[in-house]
Amino acid sequence: MSKKIIDLRSDTVTQPSAEMRDKMMHAPLGDDVFGEDPSINELQTFAANLFGMEAALFCSSGTQTNQIGIKIHTQPGDEVICDALSHVYLYEGGGIAYNSGASVRLIQSKRGLFTAEQVLQNINDDNVHYPHSSLVCIENTVNKGGGACWDINELKAIKKVCTEKHLAFHLDGARLFNALVAKGESAKEYGELFDTISICLSKGLGAPVGSLLLGTQAHIYKARRIRKVMGGGMRQAGILAAAGLYALQNNVNRLAEDHQRASQVEQVLRDLSWVDSIQPVETNILILKTRADLDMGIIIQNLDKHGIKAISMGKQLMRFVFHLDQSAEDINRLCELLSGLKV
Ligand SMILES: *Cc1c(COP(=O)(O)O)cnc(C)c1O
Repeated sequence: MSKKIIDLRSDTVTQPSAEMRDKMMHAPLGDDVFGEDPSINELQTFAANLFGMEAALFCSSGTQTNQIGIKIHTQPGDEVICDALSHVYLYEGGGIAYNSGASVRLIQSKRGLFTAEQVLQNINDDNVHYPHSSLVCIENTVNKGGGACWDINELKAIKKVCTEKHLAFHLDGARLFNALVAKGESAKEYGELFDTISICLSKGLGAPVGSLLLGTQAHIYKARRIRKVMGGGMRQAGILAAAGLYALQNNVNRLAEDHQRASQVEQVLRDLSWVDSIQPVETNILILKTRADLDMGIIIQNLDKHGIKAISMGKQLMRFVFHLDQSAEDINRLCELLSGLKV
């Protein structure tokens, strides 16, 4: 008897659907280092228009689009202001130092959501002793914040500080579409606020590979050069871009379903003896804290034995992520399994 595994480790584990594979199969292709891949060009134009921004660049990963974005806005010795929980700081292999030679100023906040006042407090005065503060990075949704969404009014206030103090403003929008769907906001509102935006096509949108960096023509001109230096120039990658375009055109609105399922599972987890607390569920990520007197590693192994895959996000923290390869039936079965599970 083999039951389908319910993989909640990440929304990156999805398989391209039959329709998506069909688009990939029939995508017109060319050499993108010459700028001649029609499918990549179509995706870049579509995304730039969606955000009301001038241009976009298709890259291999969200780490690459974030790192290129950071490099565009900084010089070695500069300082990047970001949250202590942010992906650009925690999960990109020290890339801010490695690729850009910049230092970081970490803001301590609740769930990765800081304020314009905190940004202001962390900008260095113009003084030869201090690193030059040149960039603010925010993440929406916040992965380590349990999929938390920003209040767009706070982002507008931060933008105002950045403009007044001459800092650039970059958005790590790996899961921005989850925030847009949860909040009923538009991509254009975000396009107006940021100098550069990184979005991932291979998370909840279900494409196998790819991210986009959005910005002005001048930013993307620079970005293309940096991507090449990083070894990220691709050839007939339109086969991947076709999947990304399909994802943007078909898989955005359905994210609401993942959010609803995360809430459904949250209701079940609330009653379980091994769960200490759950971070507020806003989108497709659920982070819970296990009871301090229990070994979380053993709980994860126990879930695994029942065909449920989850991951650790640090001491006592366990993450469940909801995505398009889970059916309503899978989620109902998950709820039943969780309710009956002895740890
Ligand atoms: C996944 C993710 C990225 C990019 O990761 P890649 O695996 O390099 O595509 C960036 N930021 C956040 C918040 C993410 O969750």
